[in-house]
Amino acid sequence: MTLHEAMLYKKQNDKKVKCHLCARRCLISEGATGFCLVRKNEGGTLFTLNYGKAVSAAVDPIGKKPLSHFHPGAQVMSIAAAGCNFRCQFCDNWMVSQDKEISGKPFSSADVVKMARERNCQGISYTYTEPTIYMEYAYDTAKLAHQVGFFNNFVTNGYMTPEAVKVIAPYLDAATVDFKAGGDPDFYKSVSAVPDVTPIYEALKELKLNDVHIEITNLVVPKTGDSLDKIRDMATWIKNYLGKDTPFHLLRYHPDYKMTTVPATPIETLEKAYMVAKEAGLNYAYLGNVPGHPGENTYCPNCNELLIKRYSFEITRWNLTKGMQCRVCNSQIPIKGNLHPTGASFPYALF
Ligand code: SF4
Repeated sequence: MTLHEAMLYKKQNDKKVKCHLCARRCLISEGATGFCLVRKNEGGTLFTLNYGKAVSAAVDPIGKKPLSHFHPGAQVMSIAAAGCNFRCQFCDNWMVSQDKEISGKPFSSADVVKMARERNCQGISYTYTEPTIYMEYAYDTAKLAHQVGFFNNFVTNGYMTPEAVKVIAPYLDAATVDFKAGGDPDFYKSVSAVPDVTPIYEALKELKLNDVHIEITNLVVPKTGDSLDKIRDMATWIKNYLGKDTPFHLLRYHPDYKMTTVPATPIETLEKAYMVAKEAGLNYAYLGNVPGHPGENTYCPNCNELLIKRYSFEITRWNLTKGMQCRVCNSQIPIKGNLHPTGASFPYALF
C-alpha cells in the first residue's frame, strides 16, 4: 500500500483528523478511513491510499467528457484512481469506484504526461471515478501537465469544498460537473447517499470565480429523476449564476449496477427536458447518450444555423469561422481553445 500525506486536513484532539477535501468533511479516528475509503488516519496523520495508482487509462475524444465548447475535436488522456465519495446505485464505473480493495497499477504523474504525449493528446482528464478524492495525484499530474502545455479537465460530481477548488483551480482549465435527477435532494439522499446538495452549488460558484470553463450534465432518470420542474429550476440556476452560455447536457440513463430494473430514459422525455432548458434561457442545451439525435448538435442561438454537427463523440461537420463565429449572422460563439480536426473519434482503453 502506498502512503502519501493528504492535502486539506486538520489535526484534532485524540489523534483524530478532519478532512476538508470533499463536502462530507469526515472526522476520522486513528486507524480509520473516511467515507471514500481511500483516505486513512495513521497515528494522527491523514494519508491518501490511491496516490499514483491508476485503475484505468484511456484515450478519449473530448466529446466523451462531455465538453462541447472546449478544444473541440481534441483527444484527452483519461485517468482514474479507486474510490468515490458517492454511492450511486446506477454507477457505470462501480467496479472501480465502489471497490473496497484499493486496486490500480503504479502510474506516476510523469508516466501520465509521457503517455499523453506519446498518444498525441492535447489534455488530461481526471474522470471515471471522483477526482476530488484522488486530489493529490490529480494535482501533481495537472501541475506537470501544465508545464508541458497540456490542459486539464475534471469530470466531477461537484461535491468538493471551496478550499479544494481553490487548490486545484490554478491548474484546472475545464470542469464537467455531473448532476443527477435535476439536483433533487431526495434522489441524492436515497440513491447516492448524499446528505445535502448545497455544497455542489457552492463549488460551482467557486469554479466560476476561478475562471474554470464549466459544462454541466444532468442524468435524467425515468420516474424518480425526470421532473421537468427540477430541470427548469436547474437550468434557471445555471443561467443566473454561471451564465446563459453555459453548456447544459441532458444525459440518457442506462440501467447499471444496482438499478437494472429502471429502463433507459425515453427519447421523448429527453426532448421535453431539452425544450425546458432552452425555454429557461440557456443558449446551449445538448442531449447525450443518443447518437445521431439533432440534440447533439450546436446551433447558433441568434439565427439557429447548424454550427457543429456531431455523431456521438465525433464532429462530423464544422461550420464556424476560425474566430468561432457563425458564418451566417457573425454571432460570436463561446468556445474556448482551437479546433483539433485530427483528434480521436472513438475512445480506446490503454488499461
Ligand atoms: S475526501 Fe471526502 S469522503 Fe474522503 S475522507 Fe475526505 S471528506 Fe471524507
